[in-house]
Amino acid sequence: MFLRYSPSMHPPVPPSAAAPCAPRIHLDAVSARAVFVAPERAERPIEESTTAPTGGLVEACPFCAGNERLTPPDVVRAVDDSGGWRARIIPNRYPFVRDLPQASAAAPATPGDDRAAHGVHEVVIESPRHERSILAIDSRSWELVWRLCRDRLAMLSSRRDLAWATIFKNSGPRAGASLEHVHSQLVAIDFVPATVRAEIAHAEAVPDAFDSLIREAEAEGRVVETLGSLVALCPPAPRQPFETWIVPRHASGSFARAGDDDVAAVASLTRSAIGRLGRLVPGADYNWWLHQAPFDHAAGDSPTTGGYRWHLEIMPRLAQLAGFELGTGCHITTLSPMESARRLAEA
Ligand SMILES: [Zn+2]
Ligand SMILES: [Zn+2]
Repeated sequence: MFLRYSPSMHPPVPPSAAAPCAPRIHLDAVSARAVFVAPERAERPIEESTTAPTGGLVEACPFCAGNERLTPPDVVRAVDDSGGWRARIIPNRYPFVRDLPQASAAAPATPGDDRAAHGVHEVVIESPRHERSILAIDSRSWELVWRLCRDRLAMLSSRRDLAWATIFKNSGPRAGASLEHVHSQLVAIDFVPATVRAEIAHAEAVPDAFDSLIREAEAEGRVVETLGSLVALCPPAPRQPFETWIVPRHASGSFARAGDDDVAAVASLTRSAIGRLGRLVPGADYNWWLHQAPFDHAAGDSPTTGGYRWHLEIMPRLAQLAGFELGTGCHITTLSPMESARRLAEA
């Protein structure tokens, strides 16, 4: 199957900034924690677990081929020789950030601030057929999904009104998915989240932090799989059993600039990781998210952000987050990362 990209014939029109329920971002006055307040998201349809058959087309599903009229036009899509699409990226109908005309990169915010939430929030529809699992997508099409995400991130990274972007997946109700048709989300915002700022600060203070992460995982038996220059490993301080990170061995801060080999490897390793998880815990829900460097123009004095590397964190949702986790940011888990890695590698 030969695949090529086709930009949408109908680029989306940014919604009006004056929309009555335009999302806002609040910074907590005490902790400086960022919270997006997006009342419109209360209107989004939440699908109960359905008995819809997979592998075909579902009449009421907005993400199935043939129902494109139910979603905004795509921003970019991948098509095959027959002209049918294999994956497409559309504006999220219920965004928690809005692409505001004339917005500029945010000034440093101070605790207690609240302002319009500017950014791009999109949905990556990963299959034209009604599938619940990425494992139902053939490997060539799955690689194409990752290329489409990489290319869309690259497009957004040149926008000076945006600072950072991620892709993330919520798979299953325990992971926060509201629709079962296989998809993920892409978000670009005008600031760098605190978690990523902290990771970058650590990588600047300890320049071989990522090499050490990999070296120690190898020494302690926490490597699950390697492919090309990527390593899938269980991190030293996992928040859930079987938590797995995919990390490049070489310096590469931005996934938006990842080469085709790394994109192919991350596609393969994600399929493999989810397959392993499913064999150990059938039907397990999970999240994953991409951490990467800020866009070059937003990286401040160190455009290469030291030794920081993009990585994908895959977190199974096997145990609920409870009071201690929510109250302290510390986590409790029941399986050591060494045992997680051993079982995953054998699965
Ligand atoms: Zn569907
Ligand atoms: Zn991270």
